[in-house]
Amino acid sequence: YAKSHGRNKYQFFNPSMNEGTLERLQFMYDLRRALDENELSLYYQPRMETASKRIVGLEALVRWISPEPGAGRIRMPQEFISLAEETGLIIPLGEWVLRAACNQYKEWERQGMPPLRISVNISVVQFGRDEFVSLIRRILEETAMPPDMLELELTESMVMKSDEEVILKLRQLKELGVFLSIDDFGTGYSSFTYLKHFPIDALKIDRSFIQDVPHGVRDTAITKTIIALGRRLGLKVVAEGVETKEQLAFLSSRKCDEVQGYLISKPLAVEEIEPLLRNGNLSDTIG
Ligand code: C2E
Ligand code: MG
Ligand code: MG
Ligand code: MG
Repeated sequence: YAKSHGRNKYQFFNPSMNEGTLERLQFMYDLRRALDENELSLYYQPRMETASKRIVGLEALVRWISPEPGAGRIRMPQEFISLAEETGLIIPLGEWVLRAACNQYKEWERQGMPPLRISVNISVVQFGRDEFVSLIRRILEETAMPPDMLELELTESMVMKSDEEVILKLRQLKELGVFLSIDDFGTGYSSFTYLKHFPIDALKIDRSFIQDVPHGVRDTAITKTIIALGRRLGLKVVAEGVETKEQLAFLSSRKCDEVQGYLISKPLAVEEIEPLLRNGNLSDTIG
């Protein structure tokens, strides 16, 4: 079973897997089991609109809750996403995440919660598949998710190649009505070409630029420039990794549309986030 089955099938072995192949097989086995036995869970981090200080969206972030008790019970995406990408398990994992996020939206809708757009991180491996657009269409239909309430977080590496295939895919996604954003903006091969041609709705400024705002001269210049660029292009601009009131004050003064970060809230499990959603208003949290 070690052969590749063409570019759209999972490729279980590849040359880069020579080192630690046994560990990888063990990992694949464990992650496969985690998927089958429902050990994956989504945490949600609020996105706050700076002007109104209201929660306007949630980012879904995957966690692997291992059944063994104790420390390290909650495994973070850094521990398993890239291996999932290398082994092809990102395909079923990514599909699970999309479906779980849409089902959660519908569940909150049934409970009468105010509607919030949910964003989902998409792996370059997922996006690259021929079936990606039809997968999104199918999940929207199956879950009855309103398309404009689903946001796909893409990265610069996916849209960098301004080839026809990528543009076509993005157009088809926009036709479905989903919201498209560029995650970790500024850390990849940013190109004005794709900003010119591609139907993107939002830019998420990477946390590494926000970190030293407003004191770091360069980070502050870069952040101001990205906000101005986004505004000129009619894109929503979101700052990631906002941890201090000073950062928030700066971003508000520069009219950055939305902020996300530990200052507002950490990513939370469903039970933890529901009270916050019922409240809707974050002024208690951030003063
Ligand atoms: P990301 O998409 O840039 O998500 C934001 C990450 O920054 C999250 O880490 C979040 O917990 C963290 N974060 C948020 N606010 C702050 C802050 O104020 N300070 C600091 N230091 N960190 C903050 P997390 O959940 O560990 O996820 C890491 C990365 O893993 C994500 O980065 C995303 O690229 C990837 N990831 C997470 N869930 C999924 C998924 O379902 N599918 C795929 N393909 N990738 C995922
Ligand atoms: Mg993200
Ligand atoms: Mg991401
Ligand atoms: Mg990011």
